[in-house]
Amino acid sequence: MYWKKLTHEQIKERVFGALRKNLDYRGEKPILGIPGTYLDTTEFYPDAPFLEDAPYMSAMVSNPNHIGVHTLSDKSVLDVFEGTQQIEKELIALVSQEIFKGGRGQQDGYVATGGTEANMQAMWIYRNYYIREHGAKLDEIAVMYSQDTHYSLPKGANVLQLRSFILGVDYESRAITRASLEEQVDKAIQSGCRYFIIVANLSTTMFGSVDDIDMLGEYFTRRRLPFKIHVDAAYGGFIYPFTNPESRYTFDNSYVTSIAADGHKMLQTPYGTGLFLVRKGYFQYVKTDEANYIPGKDYTLCGSRSGANAISLWMILQVHGSEGWKYKMETLCDRTERICNRLTRMKVPFFRNPYLNIIAMQASHISGDLADKYYLVADSYEKAPEWYKIVVMPHVKQGIVDSFLLDLERSLKGIPIADK
Ligand SMILES: *Cc1c(COP(=O)(O)O)cnc(C)c1O
Repeated sequence: MYWKKLTHEQIKERVFGALRKNLDYRGEKPILGIPGTYLDTTEFYPDAPFLEDAPYMSAMVSNPNHIGVHTLSDKSVLDVFEGTQQIEKELIALVSQEIFKGGRGQQDGYVATGGTEANMQAMWIYRNYYIREHGAKLDEIAVMYSQDTHYSLPKGANVLQLRSFILGVDYESRAITRASLEEQVDKAIQSGCRYFIIVANLSTTMFGSVDDIDMLGEYFTRRRLPFKIHVDAAYGGFIYPFTNPESRYTFDNSYVTSIAADGHKMLQTPYGTGLFLVRKGYFQYVKTDEANYIPGKDYTLCGSRSGANAISLWMILQVHGSEGWKYKMETLCDRTERICNRLTRMKVPFFRNPYLNIIAMQASHISGDLADKYYLVADSYEKAPEWYKIVVMPHVKQGIVDSFLLDLERSLKGIPIADK
């Protein structure tokens, strides 16, 4: 994995250059047919002086639409916004080839609204693939994922009318158990399922646990069951590949067909920046032929979407370079490790994957007051929590960590803690 960092000046030049290649609603060209325009100028006035030095804000104000998927052909879908759509193409190539080790030009993708949409897009593709290529009926397709999986998967299965089968995990290691895998696959087959969509977590949101993708792939291969694996890396996609050089979650691994990776979690981009990446050849299953007014047709769930969002992802990756981002993510992991060492000394049981920045502590050791004071997130708000988690994001500085650990020490001794 390597790409060089760019300076602010270089980034500015590239983005402004791309904006100049777009059709400009304020420019010379007679744009009569497009149902889009610049942002309302009462609030978003284009002559605000700071815009000259602010490529993302400038992109927002000029308001390019990135509707469609721009990696599908060499020609841009709508040449109206060709300049900035080219940046999105570069972004997809950078993430799928450098971060997820895909072959050159072997992946497609787009900037979705978030992990929810990207996960749903994957299920939509595989559902249609089984219907078209295998003549599958809806109730013959099973979606399988662990009990710790994000709720966007049951949501997506509901929208797409697919049946879900939930894999149980070991209480301490949060790993999918073989017994449960066996049991759920048998249950699915007995109830008529013949085709499988598997979701492997490149970190669950609650635990930071990572599913064993090779175990899953080998299991379905051995049983000769048709399967496709989608990786939900909404949370871990921009940290794990940087902290674990041996990651099996890459396009190098033939078990991986698609990946969802949110910018707006670890990459600190604005909301609306979920990446969907898939091997070439799969988008055709969700082509909407009726999208007649889009020259390249549409293949996405969302339709119109912000070009500025795509630019923001590209900018953050470029301004750090691969080495800079790696350093930043390793620093978060070091800080996480330091907390874990203290927890071990205090004999507070917890789960943590060494390549991630989430610590899930057993709730029996955490008082309600402590959880409230530090906004710890519980695994459940309906029943008594079993786990509370800490997510060591960039705003979690050592000072806050220290005072949390002091308060934890006090509360374990039964000493009341001061309020927020
Ligand atoms: C956050 C998250 C999602 C959903 O992402 P949104 O961007 O909120 O739609 C899906 N899966 C995992 C593992 C997540 O952490």
